[in-house]
Amino acid sequence: MARVLNWQIGRSMSYWYPENRPKRQFAAVFDINKCIACQTCTLACKTTWTSGKGQEYMLWNNVETKPYGFYPLAWDLKLLKMLGPQEWGRDEYLGRTIFEAAEAGERVVGWMPEPRDYAYPNVGEDDCAGRVDRGAAMQVPHPSWFFYLARICNHCTYPACLASCPRGATYKRQEDGIVLVDQKRCRGYRECTKACPYKKVFYNPMTGTSEKCIACFPKIEQGLQPQCFVNCIGKIRLAGWISTPDKAQADNPIDYLVHVKRVALPLFPQFGLEPNIYYIPPVHAPATFLRQMFGPRVEAAIRTYRAAPEDLDLAGLLGLFGSTDRVVSRWARKDDWVLAADDHGKEILRVPLREPVYVREAFDAQYQVARVNCP
Ligand code: SF4
Ligand code: SF4
Repeated sequence: MARVLNWQIGRSMSYWYPENRPKRQFAAVFDINKCIACQTCTLACKTTWTSGKGQEYMLWNNVETKPYGFYPLAWDLKLLKMLGPQEWGRDEYLGRTIFEAAEAGERVVGWMPEPRDYAYPNVGEDDCAGRVDRGAAMQVPHPSWFFYLARICNHCTYPACLASCPRGATYKRQEDGIVLVDQKRCRGYRECTKACPYKKVFYNPMTGTSEKCIACFPKIEQGLQPQCFVNCIGKIRLAGWISTPDKAQADNPIDYLVHVKRVALPLFPQFGLEPNIYYIPPVHAPATFLRQMFGPRVEAAIRTYRAAPEDLDLAGLLGLFGSTDRVVSRWARKDDWVLAADDHGKEILRVPLREPVYVREAFDAQYQVARVNCP
């Protein structure tokens, strides 16, 4: 085992291979508050990549309702239980990662899902935690809650799938940090499926190999955002590149959200993989639940997000989500406009800070038609 630095847990940790960060790292921010669980992302991915034989059960992108939704069943609960206590100091994780908790002879703490664990991908949809008594009036905050969690492969800096592969078939690309499975080298041992704590590697029984989200790398190579991003109805997603905290640049939109404003957080950072999909946490769910899921900074992140209406830079950047099919490498706010640029600094988009509001008359006298149902 090597010692590597994992900034998300505020310390170094054990990993199977030495630290080898790519030239740049693909990353994304998902704003949970805007997801409506329409599953358009799920279907965009399904029809693009997993419509073949042996892929019927696979959802490289899925959206589950928390706290009772899972795909596969109980993916997070099982591992949280296996990992034991997960205590944090102020910013440092004091517990053990899945690499550190592995028993002698194992590389990672993990578990293998049964085929039926994948059989109900939308289990728990819209199920609430908490209870509302019959006849009770609406309250804010409401005693019952749920939220939608959209998930893809995290293209982790320290992937458990890669660490566990005895064939060296899983690899991380130097040019963009995307994690792929070499289909020619893979022999279908499924160590990766067992090891990935997010359960984002799938076994194809027809080909006898493992398959996973590829971050739509043919699109990324052309400067385009992946399918699940550009089809997102809620405009919750922004793809880009993340730096380590010491090299963060405020004009990089992902760096700004993750490192400067600290409003976007990794999913289960205590697992130790340094995952590269970041979430703006839901403002209405209990802090204890969110702390376990996103780490100790979650309450500060929610405060920052709530203050966005007065923070014109943050509000403006959030307006870029879902506004272009291109990867935004740089951004800036100029007065009432937010500008986005590509890798070469070329402007690809500008959006107004505030959209104009048009009030349409209920009755259109010119065409003698009612424009709304109740003129
Ligand atoms: S999320 Fe899972 S499949 Fe994706 S890189 Fe991390 S360990 Fe591998
Ligand atoms: S398309 Fe967007 S809004 Fe719809 S479920 Fe997926 S992430 Fe959520």
